[in-house]
Amino acid sequence: MRILPLLLLAALPAFGERQAAPARPLMPLYDAAGLKQACDTAIANARRHAKLMEQKKSPTGVFNEWNQLQIGIEDVLNPVYLLGEVHPDKTVRDAAEPCLTQFVSLSTELFQNEKIYKRVEAAKPANPHQAKLRKDLLEGFEDNGVTLPAEKRARVKAIFDKLEELRQAFDRDIRDDPTRVTFTPAEMEGMPEAYLKAHEKARDKDGNYVLTLAYPSYFPFLANAKSGEARKRYYVAKLREGGEKNLAILADIYALRKELADLYGLPSFADYALRRRMVGNPQTVDRFLASVKDAVTDLEKKELGELTAEKAKDLGTPLGETRLERWDTSYYQERVRKARYSVDQEALRKYFPSGKAVDYVLLVSQRLYGVTFREAKVPVWNPDVRYFDVLDAKTGQFLSGFYLDLYPREGKYNHAAEFGLRGASLVARRTPSAALVANLDPKGLDHEELETLMHEFGHVMHAVLSRTDYQPHSGNAKQDFIEAPSKMYEEWARREGPLALFKEVCADCPQLTHEQIRQMEAARRYGQGIRYARQWLYSVFDMELSKNPRPPLVVWKELESATPQGHVEGTMLPASFSHIASSYAAGYYGYMWAEVLALDMLSAFHGNLMDPAVGRRYRDTILSQGSQEEEIDMVRKFLGREPSSEAFFAEITGKR
Ligand SMILES: [Zn+2]
Repeated sequence: MRILPLLLLAALPAFGERQAAPARPLMPLYDAAGLKQACDTAIANARRHAKLMEQKKSPTGVFNEWNQLQIGIEDVLNPVYLLGEVHPDKTVRDAAEPCLTQFVSLSTELFQNEKIYKRVEAAKPANPHQAKLRKDLLEGFEDNGVTLPAEKRARVKAIFDKLEELRQAFDRDIRDDPTRVTFTPAEMEGMPEAYLKAHEKARDKDGNYVLTLAYPSYFPFLANAKSGEARKRYYVAKLREGGEKNLAILADIYALRKELADLYGLPSFADYALRRRMVGNPQTVDRFLASVKDAVTDLEKKELGELTAEKAKDLGTPLGETRLERWDTSYYQERVRKARYSVDQEALRKYFPSGKAVDYVLLVSQRLYGVTFREAKVPVWNPDVRYFDVLDAKTGQFLSGFYLDLYPREGKYNHAAEFGLRGASLVARRTPSAALVANLDPKGLDHEELETLMHEFGHVMHAVLSRTDYQPHSGNAKQDFIEAPSKMYEEWARREGPLALFKEVCADCPQLTHEQIRQMEAARRYGQGIRYARQWLYSVFDMELSKNPRPPLVVWKELESATPQGHVEGTMLPASFSHIASSYAAGYYGYMWAEVLALDMLSAFHGNLMDPAVGRRYRDTILSQGSQEEEIDMVRKFLGREPSSEAFFAEITGKR
């Protein structure tokens, strides 16, 4: 996931002044009072800057002025957004919320500014990057209502303000969900030694294990705990995360989005959102999703059949009377993977100790993209957060920096995501920075966690290798392309070429053999039908609400009930589906859409994923360009041909 608080926004050093790029711009670490003050100052400065922009009649200079405006805003907004999700002190997290609300309000206000709009409209672009910026800005102005009558324009602003308030409440309900699930020592049967040891401090006075809903506790439990009853309890608790309150919030969110579309005379929010995406319209998404469904339906049935047989064998029940419940899927998948491919996810943690796995990702990225990462001790928001400078390997030039915040803790953002901190701007001599936030097992990673780390690091590279003229284009892309660099990078956690480099970062770790890597890949492919059927379901759910909003749980139940495993009464997945409460609305399909391009782009490596020449070309044509060119043109340039969906359909049907 990639998080850019406000896609087209930015703030300010004095108007028109050229700033010298500081050697290593670090992120400000506010306390609650400092945060509020920085927020108020940045917003007041932005308004002042906008006033000056308004007063100029001539369009000359408007692109650079807008760039400076956005830079001044993001310098405060982006750190505040991140701190609101990760700061260990709840008072700081809480202080972030009203600040973000003010920034959203400011953003709409700027994009509704008719005088600035007129100047952008009248501006004659001096080069293609300015032309793209002009186009993006005009769309941004229109999407914020500048061309609507005053009354409707005011309503657009009120809707955006409310949507931000609801998004915050939704995330807060997940982040601060107090749910704990208690298991007796007997119910821990099947759990690996390392897991039990890691959860020793989670035991109560009676010796029971009191577990949170965090990934490193939940996922291994579902995959390993022998007791179906215990797995069910955990599954239902996890799928109630966020609670009833969030269902109501989600309903309000989609209703407001529908109203937004109405103001524009568009049939639905899907139409409103998708006209700015690669797909262009809802019909293209519907067709794409239908072809995904066609491709995976039979495979999903076959896989579920095999897992049901495995369960029947395990419990000694007649096959005809055995039902594979949702809390059984990952447990029996894990058993089949162990039996068929001798791949034991828990055992893999010895191969990928967390610190070494990070070293691996860093090593691979440095070699591939011709960059050097240099760790530096800098002030951070929590002691285990690390910071790195990024330098060009050849010239030694300082390019950017990034933070890594990888392990779970109380009150922290509960998914994995990359957060943009600073955008690049060559015209402002500004270097980018970003933060990777995840919830990995601090002891060692299983294969999926290694893929997650690689995925998010793909976003980080997109952000910090950006060399765009203007800040709004930095590390940015249409929402259905933004996952392409990260989906693509997952492959570096799978192939022997790069994985062979693991011994360079850990001579003492057990080394995966050629045969093990082959088996690990086969094990990963086992389950593609189930995995993509689920991705399809999430995407269709999001599209349904975006086209025609109804109560989210009602729609979810209908859709999930129509799947082979059905709906589990009492669960409410939409309550924790934070993607669709924020910028991935009418956009969850984008994961698969971007994967089409990601897997196609892989073909340029011709099997040698560590080819530095292709890595460099990818850095230059895709990563460094952000959104200053059209995505489809960049992909064509990189591939030297039209893109194709062949590799994607081979992947999801397990045939690649
Ligand atoms: Zn992502």
